[in-house]
Amino acid sequence: VLPLQGKPNLTGNYAEIRPNHFHAGLDFKTDPEKNMPIYAVADGYVSRIKVSTHGYGKALYITHANGLVSVYGHQYAYNNAIKKYVETEQLKQETFEIELFPKPKELLVKQGEIVGYSGNTGDSEGPHLHFEIRDEKSEVPLNPLRFLKITDTMAPKINLIAFYEDDYTAPEIHPVLLKHNGYQDTVSVSNKFGIGVVCGDQETKYGSWNNIYKAELLLDDKSFYSHTLDSIPFDLARYVNTYCDYDVKKKQKIKIQKCFVGKNNDLPIYRTDDKKGFIYLNDTLYHKLTIKVYDFYNHSDEVSRIIKRKAATKEKPIVVQPNDCLKPFVKETDQYRINIPEKSIYTDYSCKAIFSRGTISENVPFIETLVFFGIGPSGKNYEIPFQKNCTISIQAKTKMLKYGDKLCIAEDIGNKYNYCGGSLQDGFVSTTVKNFGAYKVSLDTVAPQIKFVKPKKKKDFKEGDLILFKVSDEFSGIGKFKLTINDVFQLAEYEHKTGMVFLKLGENSPKGKVKVKLVLDDKKNNRAASELYLLIK
Ligand SMILES: [Zn+2]
Repeated sequence: VLPLQGKPNLTGNYAEIRPNHFHAGLDFKTDPEKNMPIYAVADGYVSRIKVSTHGYGKALYITHANGLVSVYGHQYAYNNAIKKYVETEQLKQETFEIELFPKPKELLVKQGEIVGYSGNTGDSEGPHLHFEIRDEKSEVPLNPLRFLKITDTMAPKINLIAFYEDDYTAPEIHPVLLKHNGYQDTVSVSNKFGIGVVCGDQETKYGSWNNIYKAELLLDDKSFYSHTLDSIPFDLARYVNTYCDYDVKKKQKIKIQKCFVGKNNDLPIYRTDDKKGFIYLNDTLYHKLTIKVYDFYNHSDEVSRIIKRKAATKEKPIVVQPNDCLKPFVKETDQYRINIPEKSIYTDYSCKAIFSRGTISENVPFIETLVFFGIGPSGKNYEIPFQKNCTISIQAKTKMLKYGDKLCIAEDIGNKYNYCGGSLQDGFVSTTVKNFGAYKVSLDTVAPQIKFVKPKKKKDFKEGDLILFKVSDEFSGIGKFKLTINDVFQLAEYEHKTGMVFLKLGENSPKGKVKVKLVLDDKKNNRAASELYLLIK
C-alpha cells in the first residue's frame, strides 16, 4: 500500500538533481495544516529510528521480509509505541538527537498500520513525506516506483538539447523547436561530440515537474547509448556533479543531464560501448541523431536532428601540465597546504593558489587568506565541482594564534562568510572543504543568544503547553543544547529553521514553581545559559 491515503501528489521523484546528490526517493506532498497519518507499506519491523535536527528529521526505517527497507522521513511524530520506545532512550541518554536500532521482534508493524504522522522536521523545506525503498544488505536506495504503483498519465518532455565537444567544454544549447513540414535544421558537429538533455516528467496534468527515468540515444535509428535512474548508491550520489552540467546549472540555472560518461564517473547507470556515449563521425554525410527520454511507465518523448560533420574541426586546446583527475594532488608551502584526493575532480585540471597575509588590525577578524581554484583543460574559468572533499591548511601566524581552539576557517562567498569548521595544529588551521574558493582563517568567540518567548497574557503553564526559547548563533551555529527543569533533563526539541528550542509539557512534567534552565553551545563550544522560574499547574 502507499504510505499516505488519498491521491499521491509527487513533488519530487527518484534521482532528481539536488545539490551534491541525486534524490534518493519520492517526496509526497502532505497537508500543510494537519499532520497526516503515515502507513507502513508492508509488514515488517522497525529496524532503525533516527531523530536529527537536520537531514531527515524524525525518520523511521522498517525492514521487510523480502530484503527491502522502507524509509519515512521528516515526520512530525511517531506512533505511540515507537514514541514511547524512542523517548525512553532519549531520556536515558539525555539527548534529543538519537539513533536507535531496535531488534527484529521489538517493534513489529503490520501493512497499513499507522507508524507516524507527516511533518516538516529536519532539512525539509515544506511539509512532505520523504519516502525511500532501500536494499537491506547494500543499503542502496532503489527507485520506489519498482514497488509502488503511482498514477502516471503524462509523457515526459524534452525542452533543450545540448551539444558538447568534450566533457570540459561549454555546450551549445539548442531549444527544441516544433517541426514544421518535417523540415529540420541541420546541426554542424565536430568529429567527436556528446549530447545533453534538459527534460522533465509530470505524473498528472497539474503535477510537479519531476525527473525522467531513462534516456536513450540513437544514431541513424540504431540505439547506442542509454542510462537508467534506478539504483544509485549513496557513496556515488555526488557524481551528480558531473552527470548534470555543474557550470551551466550554477550560471544559467539550467539542469542539463549529460548522455555521455566523462573521465571520472563511476555511476552504475550507463549502458554503452567503449565510446561512452560520445559520437564519432568519420564521414561528412548526413546522419540522424535521436534523443529519447522515458518515464517509469514507458511514456516517452523524442527529438531528432539531422547532423553533419563540420568540414574543418577545431584544434584541441593546449593544456599546460594538467593534473590527472584520477590521481591525488598535493601542494605544500610554508603558508598553506592543499590536499585533493584521487578522483576528486571529474576531468583533468590545474590547481592555482594565491596566499595573502593581509594587514593586521585588531578589528579585522580575517587576515590570512587562501584562494584556490581549478582550471579546466580548456583553460577557461569554469565552475569546477568536487566529488570528494579536499583538505586545506592555512598558517595562522598573526595575532590570531592566541585564540587557539576558537580558530576556524571561513569561506568568503562575496556578501558573507560561511563557517567551514577547522582546528588549529602546529600553527595551521585545517579543515575539509566542499569546493574551490576563497578561505580565511577566522574565529568564533561569541556565545549563542537565548531569548525566552513569553506567552501573551498567560501567567502559568499546564500540560500540553509549550515552553519556547528563540535561539541564534552568529557564526559557527548551534551545537549541543540541554533543557532542565529543577535540574532534571527534559526532552526539548530544537528546530533550526525557526531557531526554536521548545518543550511540550506532558503529564509527567514537574509541577509547581520550577526552575527552567537552557544551556546552549555553538560549534566552537562557546556557551550560553538562560535560567528562569515558571509556575506549572
Ligand atoms: Zn525527499
